[in-house]
Amino acid sequence: MAIREILTDEQPVLRKTSHPVTNFDSRLHDLLDDMKETLAQANGVGLAAPQIGILRRAVIVMNDDGEMMELINPEIILQEGEQEGFEGCLSVPGRWGVVKRPMHVKVRAQDRNGAFFEAEGEGLLARCFCHETEHLDGHLFVEHADKLYTTEELDEMMAQEEEEESWG
Ligand code: ZN
Repeated sequence: MAIREILTDEQPVLRKTSHPVTNFDSRLHDLLDDMKETLAQANGVGLAAPQIGILRRAVIVMNDDGEMMELINPEIILQEGEQEGFEGCLSVPGRWGVVKRPMHVKVRAQDRNGAFFEAEGEGLLARCFCHETEHLDGHLFVEHADKLYTTEELDEMMAQEEEEESWG
């Protein structure tokens, strides 16, 4: 296993469409293992193969139990409700935006051996399914955000929100 370099948004590869995975072989397994190691080291909640320069439809998403899920050729088959909240991306370091996403999402994907499965997510996990799947079509969250904030601005807003909450 190896930690790969996470590409940032000026790299054209992030705007390209990834190809479906057709070989569920040791090369794919190596890629998935590297993606998981890279994600763990970056302390993120999701990573898509194009973010490390590989145009293949494979993503890693952290589930509600903090376990990493592997989704190959993921497709969103159901989306319900709506949520609005801050979103960031390992390929857009230090920038945050408010993005609307469905509250509930169901995906169909394949595992590392090619077996199909379905997974459902609410809240953050639903957001993550959308964000990572979108990477495979060359889209980044910044396209949905009206304005980008720095980490300092985000921290300030979060602190203010907490203060307001504690005042009831
Ligand atoms: Zn991202």
